[in-house]
Amino acid sequence: MEKFIRERQRRWLSAIEKTGAMLVTHSPNVRYLTGFTGSAGVLAAADGKLAFFTDGRYTTQAREQVVGAKIAVKKKPALRSALEWLVSRRSTQVAIEAEHVTVEQSTAIQKSLKEIGTKMRLVPQCGVVQRLRTIKDADEIGRIRDAVALASSCLDRALAAIAPGTPEGDVAAQLEYACRMAGAEGMSFDTIVAGGVRSALPHGVASRTPLPKHGFVVLDYGVILAGYCSDMTRTVHIGRPTVKERAIYEAVLEAHEAAKAAVRPGVTCGEVDAAARKVLTRAKLEKYFTHSTGHGVGLEIHEPPRIGKKQDDLLAAGMVITIEPGVYLPGEGGVRIEDMVLVTDNGFETLTPTPKSLVTL
Ligand code: ZN
Ligand code: ZN
Repeated sequence: MEKFIRERQRRWLSAIEKTGAMLVTHSPNVRYLTGFTGSAGVLAAADGKLAFFTDGRYTTQAREQVVGAKIAVKKKPALRSALEWLVSRRSTQVAIEAEHVTVEQSTAIQKSLKEIGTKMRLVPQCGVVQRLRTIKDADEIGRIRDAVALASSCLDRALAAIAPGTPEGDVAAQLEYACRMAGAEGMSFDTIVAGGVRSALPHGVASRTPLPKHGFVVLDYGVILAGYCSDMTRTVHIGRPTVKERAIYEAVLEAHEAAKAAVRPGVTCGEVDAAARKVLTRAKLEKYFTHSTGHGVGLEIHEPPRIGKKQDDLLAAGMVITIEPGVYLPGEGGVRIEDMVLVTDNGFETLTPTPKSLVTL
């Protein structure tokens, strides 16, 4: 673990060489760069030196977890202490996380700088640490594999709970209970169980609606294990699917396989998305595919890169992404099939072990 964190810090320091100093406040980024899992910690870097600031509640935890940074536990707010440290190190400018610093934090930073009496300049930058996080190291890939395996192993419990008249929420509850009992720290997002016409809602979070006698049921869920998220979707059918329903399922599955087959280092995310869309266009279903083909997953459930239309970010070995095309016919039903995939040196590896042929219940 420690050697991985030190390597992340080395990559981070070289990414911020131009600005020289940076303040990291977004907890998943702080965790990634230090190992600290608490919610109140600020990491600062100046001229190659790292310092971690927190308050009295986290003294023990910080000493146990933080790697490769000087630990400072102060009575003052961590952000204020970090700014004072940066000024003491004669930083003239400091990068801040533009997409995470709130208006409130920004106001507090400005106020502190005035009180300290420094001319240190703030340089808002986007995605500095997130970009590093897109490429997973061996420690992260191991954790993600474990999370994916745990979640997949619990699907049968949800399927066993599916029956006409059973509320979607009951199915979600059984699934989540099984995940927790198997060791999950929590779910990585609100579990989606959407039956019948509700399966046409791409984000049909499990409701009290009873499952129908006939129709698709979309199950989209994930767990958090050792800090890392998993994400998978399977669509099953209650009763005998019609010819049309079977055709839709097969088209989505074909789009899923086509997108995967496009995954390798050096292709753009847009090309992977286009591969799925091409199949659905041929099946005259493209206009019902209303979201992106996938997204990165790691410490957070939605991370860069986004596998969407015209996205020109390049895939690289070590990225972990989802492939999740879907087709949603309003008032009828929907199908989505989602796996997690690791980009390898010469292609991809499917991480999700669960079969994808249509299950009827
Ligand atoms: Zn999902
Ligand atoms: Zn997803």
